[in-house]
Amino acid sequence: MTSMALKSFVGLRQSSQEKNPHFTIQAKPLTVTVQNPRRFRVVAGKFSPKVAGRNLRVAIIGGGPAGGSAAETLVKGGVETYLIERKLDNCKPCGGAIPLCMVGEFDLPLDIIDRRVTKMKMISPSNVAVDIGQTLKPHEYIGMVRREVLDSYLRDRAKENGATVINGLFLKMDIPKEENAPYVLHFTEYDGKVGGVGQKKTLEVDAVIGADGANSRVAKSINAGDYEYAIAFQERVKIPDDKMVYYENLAEMYVGDDVSPDFYGWVFPKCDHVAVGTGTVTHKGDIKKFQLATRNRAKDKILGGKIIRVEAHPIPEHPRPRRLSGRVALVGDAAGYVTKCSGEGIYFAAKSGRMCAEAIVEGSENGKRMVDEGDLRKYLEKWDKTYWPTYKVLDVLQKVFYRSNPAREAFVEMCANEYVQKMTFDSYLYKRVVPGNPLDDLKLAVNTIGSLIRANALRREMDKLSV
Ligand SMILES: Cc1cc2nc3c(=O)[nH]c(=O)nc-3n(C[C@H](O)[C@H](O)[C@H](O)COP(=O)(O)OP(=O)(O)OC[C@H]3O[C@@H](n4cnc5c(N)ncnc54)[C@H](O)[C@@H]3O)c2cc1C
Repeated sequence: MTSMALKSFVGLRQSSQEKNPHFTIQAKPLTVTVQNPRRFRVVAGKFSPKVAGRNLRVAIIGGGPAGGSAAETLVKGGVETYLIERKLDNCKPCGGAIPLCMVGEFDLPLDIIDRRVTKMKMISPSNVAVDIGQTLKPHEYIGMVRREVLDSYLRDRAKENGATVINGLFLKMDIPKEENAPYVLHFTEYDGKVGGVGQKKTLEVDAVIGADGANSRVAKSINAGDYEYAIAFQERVKIPDDKMVYYENLAEMYVGDDVSPDFYGWVFPKCDHVAVGTGTVTHKGDIKKFQLATRNRAKDKILGGKIIRVEAHPIPEHPRPRRLSGRVALVGDAAGYVTKCSGEGIYFAAKSGRMCAEAIVEGSENGKRMVDEGDLRKYLEKWDKTYWPTYKVLDVLQKVFYRSNPAREAFVEMCANEYVQKMTFDSYLYKRVVPGNPLDDLKLAVNTIGSLIRANALRREMDKLSV
């Protein structure tokens, strides 16, 4: 088999040059692959028009972790970047727990992390508390952040690198009918004055990243379809200083039918308060009852506390049916990237924003060329390949262990196992599947089956009692 490069081949997308004066066509080399000297096949390399007189222009809707990290990557990669965020001082309702690897991968300064949690208490329906965290190395921790701090840090960093940050509410977009024509975004721009009505504006861009969270308008604009969601509720509780000492570097997770039929309740420490919350998919109407139960379970430790903020928000349960259409891609919660079981989404939002932006930078050759759906699709392919197993494992864990109180007791019992703790923490902190030790894996499997059999037997007994 022989191959050779053909230069100056123009014509595949000639029409796009005629339709849009902003682009000039310039071919990349084509490869002719000769499989048989008598019959040869022409294989076209990527061929997209150059953007003339400016760089590729991309808008990101939403300035949470997904939007902020996408903006930074795009602007550093030579793309003309706009980030539209409706509320620059937004306090996203969130537990704010982030894995250690996020601190390194996103170069986060330590002063934006309120607490470094090294101890976690997992508390069963019958209030059996298991301490986890003994396997952590001295430098390892779970970071606790306030979202208003993290989000504005990431956005400001993108701005310092040259992104244009607009304080505006995205309303809708006009989808172009012609290849390479711009998307027209409609938004209300605020001038920063509280209560101001804002001014209606439009912006023309070549591509759009939807990072506007669970209620994404970008998703609606591309008919991305719906997803099942959990409702999560949280109260920020300012507790007396002596009580705060207990939560210095410790977080709590409560499981049980009382706190949630399908999730967990949490007490996470922040700078000068704790965040107490819970969530549910199946019984959304009872969320306040579950929140009360979570507070009750922690009551001795938060006694004398004052609720300083009440917040609630949907959490997606699975990816949307469609995450990409033309030159529009969804990332973070807008795409539906929260893991089951742990309800974790901050890292995955930031990571997907960055991955999508990298695909655009690469496809546009640092902002010099137009991108197409194929370029953006590379982000989806990479994402699914990297994280699909993580989502699947956590989905199964939730189904097995969060389905009844006896199963939850078994789950907490299992958490006492040092091997389980090591595997869980390593996977959480570093977001990689850790190869196990075959003998320990076998012991764990036997113990888990034993715990589940006991849990099932116990459940049958409890069912009989309640008949
Ligand atoms: C109560 C609760 C607790 C949680 N706890 C944790 C936790 O401890 N750890 C964890 O990892 N995950 C947690 N999550 C999940 C996590 O909050 C999300 O996965 C994460 O915020 C997703 O980031 P994002 O950037 O995709 O979206 P978001 O953080 O939702 O950001 C979207 C941004 O878009 C803006 N926006 C929306 N619409 C528009 C519009 N039309 N125009 C302009 N701007 C717009 C919003 O103002 C917002 O700033 C929790 C979620 C909830 C609800």
